[in-house]
Amino acid sequence: MRSLEERIKVGDLDLIIRQEFEKRGINPKNSKFKFHYGIWSNEKNVMIIEDGHYVYDGFDNKPPVPTYNTSSLYNPDNSVPVFHNAKVPPGELRVYFPNRTNIILSSLWKNATGTALFAAIILSCFAYTLTVIFRQKKLSEMKTDFINNMTHEFKTPIATISLASDSIVSPMILSNPEKVQRFANIIKQENKRMNSQVEKVLQMALLDKRDFSLKLTELNLHEIIQAAVENISLRVEKRDGVVKTILNASRPSIEGDLTHVANVINNLLDNADKYSPDKPEITVITRNISNGVEVTVQDNGIGISKEARKQIFDKFYRVPTGNLHDVKGFGLGLSYVKAMMTAHKGSVEVKSEPGKGSSFVLTFPFQVEA
Ligand code: ADP
Repeated sequence: MRSLEERIKVGDLDLIIRQEFEKRGINPKNSKFKFHYGIWSNEKNVMIIEDGHYVYDGFDNKPPVPTYNTSSLYNPDNSVPVFHNAKVPPGELRVYFPNRTNIILSSLWKNATGTALFAAIILSCFAYTLTVIFRQKKLSEMKTDFINNMTHEFKTPIATISLASDSIVSPMILSNPEKVQRFANIIKQENKRMNSQVEKVLQMALLDKRDFSLKLTELNLHEIIQAAVENISLRVEKRDGVVKTILNASRPSIEGDLTHVANVINNLLDNADKYSPDKPEITVITRNISNGVEVTVQDNGIGISKEARKQIFDKFYRVPTGNLHDVKGFGLGLSYVKAMMTAHKGSVEVKSEPGKGSSFVLTFPFQVEA
């Protein structure tokens, strides 16, 4: 029987292999699909043909002298028996792709990027959903706090008014005009307090509508500040505190809405008083800046931590210590201030050192409309 090398013509083998590969879309001219092939002889246990050349001289049982770098073909990617009709196939055709890893990687690359992208989208959706849920949860907690606070804020004056009116109608008091006067005053005070609470809630409702319009007129900030300071000094002085003004602005006139600008100053003074547990020392300073007036409301109160400073202008936000000190509030004052300053094309900034005090700096431009 003819030996394997006699039965295989290297030229034909080369042609057949290339044709078959091309039929299957494997173009050996493309460096990616470069391949080596060879015929392994089962009888001689060596490669006898490689890449279209006989590599074994076949004589004298000498060891094979490879003319090519054959090592790879001993570890082929694919091998099939040749002349497989024979009882014992005399050898096998082996094929080796040196760039196999690259081919696999390049085909995997697209899938892998797709998968990574998909995973990233899913993860970011998940993260987004989580943040929305947490934000909603926080908002809902804040709203519950707000409702609790509001109920509390209304309950106290209602109870006081009820007590005072009960007392007035008692014969003992009725006969004493001084006492009647005193209780009537209490009723008036409490009524005023409730009114200011309603005013605050209304301020916020107004902001929610977003279509509020400013009634712009020429305002003298110094006059507004003086009036607001006068308003609060009674309360502050009762606690042995002081309210000072350092009105340095030589041009204190700005364009603005009187009600809202007055509310802004009142809110800041109110907070300066509320969040100063010991004798409050409140200072209002004004100065002219390049295109307007800067108003600083400074206190020596509890101060605001860095973390809280980021959130105090959010609606319903209250620093937890605010509750700890049993200071009443809705968490609306500063968000109103911020919204109003934006509407006036100005700004509000806070500087604070916990335990030492806070300064709220307002900047009003001379003109709202440029
Ligand atoms: P409220 O006073 O009704 O709680 P605000 O919106 O006016 O709501 O203020 C938000 C939070 O900012 C307050 O709960 C308080 O903790 C903090 N804060 C505001 N002003 C001051 C201040 N001058 N000193 C210390 N903390 C302040």
